[in-house]
Amino acid sequence: MPARYWSASNHERLLNGASGTHPTWRMVMIRIDGSFGEGGGQILRSSLALSIVTGSPVRIENIRAKRRKPGLMRQHLTAVRAAAQVSNGLVVGDEIGSTELEFVPQTAVGGDYRFSIGTAGSTTLVLQTVLLPLVLAKEPSRIVLEGGTHNPMAPPFDFLERAYVPLLNRMGANVKVSLDVPGFFPAGGGRMVVDVKPTDGLRSLEILERGPLVSRRARAIVSNLSRSIGQREIDVVKAQMRWKAFELEVVEEKRSVGPGNVTTLELAYENVTEMFTEFGAVERSAESVAKHAVQQCQRYLKSDAPVGEYLTDQLMLPMAVASGGAFRSTGLSLHAQTHAELIQKFLDVRIETEKHGGGGTTLAVN
Ligand code: ATP
Repeated sequence: MPARYWSASNHERLLNGASGTHPTWRMVMIRIDGSFGEGGGQILRSSLALSIVTGSPVRIENIRAKRRKPGLMRQHLTAVRAAAQVSNGLVVGDEIGSTELEFVPQTAVGGDYRFSIGTAGSTTLVLQTVLLPLVLAKEPSRIVLEGGTHNPMAPPFDFLERAYVPLLNRMGANVKVSLDVPGFFPAGGGRMVVDVKPTDGLRSLEILERGPLVSRRARAIVSNLSRSIGQREIDVVKAQMRWKAFELEVVEEKRSVGPGNVTTLELAYENVTEMFTEFGAVERSAESVAKHAVQQCQRYLKSDAPVGEYLTDQLMLPMAVASGGAFRSTGLSLHAQTHAELIQKFLDVRIETEKHGGGGTTLAVN
């Protein structure tokens, strides 16, 4: 099936006979230096999402300059092409290793989409790129994503389902995510399905307090590995957190193609659900995996701020698109600061932060 988007290889000559997009577009392009701040993949993904949402063409240079292997990797390339596909956009520079990209979107159109990374690259990060544009589209969408669903350094599917999407829906989105097959690094082979129904607009959201604790849950998922690994992890959580038996669970995952192990601790409060994740790896003991998941959870519990490190990162984007909102965060990582700066390059919003004496930072989008 031919690609629905325009790619440089097909249309370059038609546009201006040289590399790059048309000179007129270049004049109005927002220029992003991908090496600023964190210098990672989020600058690329959010630039693409914001480019579609605002209709502003974008040129991104020095893509992922601060990563060990800069430029577009498989997951990023899939995200670029996904962005072009949902917005029938023009893209120049969509190649593995590319460190420069020009992107001219049109309006996002809902529909049936399938994005297959082809490696264990993170599907949730590809989704980060196209979800908001499709949430705001007039038509419903079904998005099938194939690749990794449980990757280190990315939101695991469970975080998306339990922490992020419920807040997005509270802002007025209508998103449902389901996991068909979990995909762990390095085998991948995972698949998730995202259904999006049109919204009449995103509303602002305020999360200043956690509210009462509703439930807590620890899960040790083992895929094609011995159940005893999960049990050892749960034993550590039980000993250190003193949670009750009904709050602890070993999940033997049979659907995945490869081995995988992850421990998650979830705290559901009335106003927010937070999730802490640690992945098992070869030559890493189950005890160490669980201990690190517990440490993340304990750090969060030491503060009373509702929004943890990763939700802070992710929540400010839909809030900025909704032109309003505020939350109290456990703290702003360099990642989050970079994201805030990037968002303000596209949208006419101010993201203001205020540190509190007892730790934590309030972030307000106006
Ligand atoms: P790069 O490809 O440049 O190495 P990346 O594409 O992995 O980086 P980052 O810029 O590091 O992208 O962004 C990672 C994203 O994953 C951020 O949105 C961050 O909030 C999210 N994330 C990372 N770890 C977790 C986690 N444990 N739980 C939830 N979200 C996470």
